Amino acid sequence: MNKPTNLYDLNYDELTNLLHNLGEPSFRARQVWNWLYRHLAGSVDEMTNLPQSLREKLAGQTTLGTAVIASQQFSSDDQTKKLLFRLPDGQYIETVLMRYEKRRTLCISTQAGCAMGCVFCATGQMGFFRNLSVGEIVAQVIHFARELAQTGEHVTNIVMMGMGEPLHNYEATLTAVDRLTDNEGFNLGARKITISTVGLVPAMRRYADEQRQTPLAVSLHAATDEERDKLIPINRKWPIAELMAACHYYIEKTGRRLTFEWALINGENDTIEQAQKLGQLVQGMLCHVNLIPLNPTQGYGGAPSSRERVEAFQAELARYGVSSTVRVRRGIDIQAGCGQLRDRTVDSG
Ligand code: SAH
Ligand code: SF4
Repeated sequence: MNKPTNLYDLNYDELTNLLHNLGEPSFRARQVWNWLYRHLAGSVDEMTNLPQSLREKLAGQTTLGTAVIASQQFSSDDQTKKLLFRLPDGQYIETVLMRYEKRRTLCISTQAGCAMGCVFCATGQMGFFRNLSVGEIVAQVIHFARELAQTGEHVTNIVMMGMGEPLHNYEATLTAVDRLTDNEGFNLGARKITISTVGLVPAMRRYADEQRQTPLAVSLHAATDEERDKLIPINRKWPIAELMAACHYYIEKTGRRLTFEWALINGENDTIEQAQKLGQLVQGMLCHVNLIPLNPTQGYGGAPSSRERVEAFQAELARYGVSSTVRVRRGIDIQAGCGQLRDRTVDSG
């Protein structure tokens, strides 16, 4: 038997073709598209304006997403929910919903595992399994959108900060962005989706050339090659000078502000010297720095910086005129750092 088609893997033309092949007129595609992306149907049965015979055919040959929930966790304040999904081939991915004031932010995965091997990252520690398909990326969002719709809420923001390196799965990730921002479909504003990259220089330049509206965040974490080499192996391929050149290129091409991510690791990259080097590196740039105390992981001995050290780091940056925000890791009590729920669930059986 053929594998069922995940309807979220199809673009509009492909959906039209699929329906043509089932003997259906073109307007059916619009109807199904609306069910998928506007009404967030949970099953083909809910698509009540389709003939029963078509619903039966679709139910036999297609699926609305392929992932099943393997486990879930809530933070103690109930504001963060993390799901571990199992894919049909046995891979696991994580998606996190964070509620903060009026925001409903999803942190989604773009790959099962990650090939980049950043030493402090739970996903990096598990290695790379495979890329996610467009439908597997999109379905994470639709799942939570459906859930939120039950209480009249909706997804307001998406960050590509779950498992995987989005720009290492460029086509699928950016196609998923296009799908989620389609104004005849899910219609999320492009500015509401942040793509976070470890710093894949050629892909960053391509992204800049495409002049997309989706904001970019760069995981810098260190301001000298000596320090960054220790934390982020890919730095040996694209060292800081090349990365910064790509960052400047992005800002020039798009006129958009860039975000730098910096996980503060006690006694490692949280020194005044690193703050000064960072200040020198990004001074005058159209950018903002997010400081995030490290989320401890099983495979790495580092600890989060103390509050005093975080404040001292931030104060030093301010001396260079560099704006920064200290981010609280929401849901730290449910291992909401990327890769951590899979680790716990899969390692324990
Ligand atoms: N691969 C992309 C996006 C996924 S990781 C990237 O690296 O940017 C999302 C963010 O979480 C990155 O900034 C990453 O450096 C950070 N991160 C990973 N593990 C972390 C940890 N244990 N503590 C704090 N931040 C972490
Ligand atoms: Fe991959 Fe990002 Fe984790 Fe590095 S921090 S291993 S790039 S997911």
